[in-house]
Amino acid sequence: MQAPTHILTGILLLGLFQVIFPAAPWWLQVVVVLPLSLASHFILDAVAIFTYHPPKADWKDWFWVSYHLIIYIGSIVLLVFFLVDSWWVIIAANFPDLIDWFILRVFFKKEPVFHPIADKLRNFLFNRTPNWNHKRWTIIIEFIIIGVLLASVLLLISFTSVSLIWLD
Ligand SMILES: [Zn+2]
Repeated sequence: MQAPTHILTGILLLGLFQVIFPAAPWWLQVVVVLPLSLASHFILDAVAIFTYHPPKADWKDWFWVSYHLIIYIGSIVLLVFFLVDSWWVIIAANFPDLIDWFILRVFFKKEPVFHPIADKLRNFLFNRTPNWNHKRWTIIIEFIIIGVLLASVLLLISFTSVSLIWLD
């Protein structure tokens, strides 16, 4: 899935933990939420079979470029608001992408190490479902998921005492 989906999932997990266990010490929060955020990446990347994800970047395709521009800007906006209070879940939820697509691919020109695991999980869970990675309309599915996650996070911030965003 795209970065905003991973970012918001990590933040939501942190918020839910804080609501369910308001008196938990900070280290228990890290011990529980950090592995959950990391695990969420693999589950979401398996579900990404239903969303627009051409395997290769295509800078000549206006649709690919526009979509990814929106995704990058959205990610930056989320980071501006949430990075200060929720940085460690954001890193955990995006860790496989940071390692595979930035550090290994960009700096070392190496093959991914985390995403073959996500691919195995995807093949296990969705081996009979169609692959929609090239279907442009499926960006709607990603936007709906992002919208639901964002609404959930904002509801938590509005109606509970979670500390996820520097504005509160
Ligand atoms: Zn990924």
